[in-house]
Amino acid sequence: HNHIDHATPEKVQAAIAAGDTHAHLPDYETFAAYEANGGYAKLKELRESGDWEKVQEDVLSSGLRGLGGAGFPSGKKWGFVRMNEGTRYLAVNGDEGEPGTFKDRYYLERAPHVFLEGMLIAAWAVEAETCFIYMRDEYPAVLEILAREIAALEEAGIVEKGYIDLRRGAGAYICGEESAMIESIEGKKGLPRHRPPFVAQVGVFNRPTLVHNVETLNWVSKICREGPQILNSVEKNGRKGLRSYSISGRVAKPGVYLLPAGSTILDVIEAAGGMIEGQTFKAYQPGGPSSGLLPASMDDIPLDFDTLQPHGTFIGSAAVVVLSDQDTARDAALNMLRFFEDESCGQCTPCRAGCEKAVKLMQADKWDQDLLEDLCQVMGDASICGLGQAAPNPIRLVMKHFADEI
Ligand code: SF4
Repeated sequence: HNHIDHATPEKVQAAIAAGDTHAHLPDYETFAAYEANGGYAKLKELRESGDWEKVQEDVLSSGLRGLGGAGFPSGKKWGFVRMNEGTRYLAVNGDEGEPGTFKDRYYLERAPHVFLEGMLIAAWAVEAETCFIYMRDEYPAVLEILAREIAALEEAGIVEKGYIDLRRGAGAYICGEESAMIESIEGKKGLPRHRPPFVAQVGVFNRPTLVHNVETLNWVSKICREGPQILNSVEKNGRKGLRSYSISGRVAKPGVYLLPAGSTILDVIEAAGGMIEGQTFKAYQPGGPSSGLLPASMDDIPLDFDTLQPHGTFIGSAAVVVLSDQDTARDAALNMLRFFEDESCGQCTPCRAGCEKAVKLMQADKWDQDLLEDLCQVMGDASICGLGQAAPNPIRLVMKHFADEI
């Protein structure tokens, strides 16, 4: 079945028509191949005689931070969850709905067991009773691979049947917000919760829950097998670690690139084969639409956690979209706000009404900047979750850096 890394839809259709019902599955490392390579030895060793605090120490010293976008130090979360009595859960955020982000899919379609072993190590560390994997339904190959490989783990006796509960998302961007994801896992509509309490204390079914992104758990696996230096020994521009940048837009070779966390946009574009021939670099989205847009002139900032904050933006899940002289920043920002308008869960007024108003105001030939700034202020101050709070970023950054277009 294993044809396709870069299959065209036509090839897949032809293969399916010829009776190959798994034609959509790419080549990936199966349980047998992973285990033959020493996979799961670490998990077994830890389960037998491991000290979770030692593993936590390694994760902390590696510098690993949550790669779903929030960037919270991963090892710290373990402590917060573990300090609570009674039943604890682990939930994996595999919703990956941030436009321009496709790194989790990339890794899961190649090496699902690196992720699964990392998840089981984290579950062991916090003594989780069940692992929920909330997976984006738009990734059918990933869902099938995970279902098969979880069955292989059950067959091999590495987990009990039902210990890993694979759930499908249903296309709502907001369900990638961790508390909305938890509501959805519980079978409810995905509405973000107020915090506190934090999900580490009150998560799935009101139990303390460790929530990690897929890629974060890949790194847990690697840190445990190879040591914290795989991350903390890499240094560039004063930053430590590695980032999986999902690069798209006007570059020659869009894709996922693993680069030092201190890389600038110029490094990222170079890794992706440079700009498309004949096009000039104009602007970039550093980390998903909530991060807005920066102009090409700001090309020397390391694209890492914290480094973009002074510039009114952030790296998020490292979804870099490169714009060229063929694009306008105002259209790109309008597109971002349209997306937020569509995806707002509607539970709070500043976001529900604010995104809609912003879209209307941004369609004017000349933007009413005072009014837009007023709106940005209200949305940022009074929205419940990150969607409404960060939706003003594209507006403000266009007003600041692309004033000639508006
Ligand atoms: Fe829903 Fe938007 Fe409020 Fe978040 S900010 S809870 S998405 S309405």
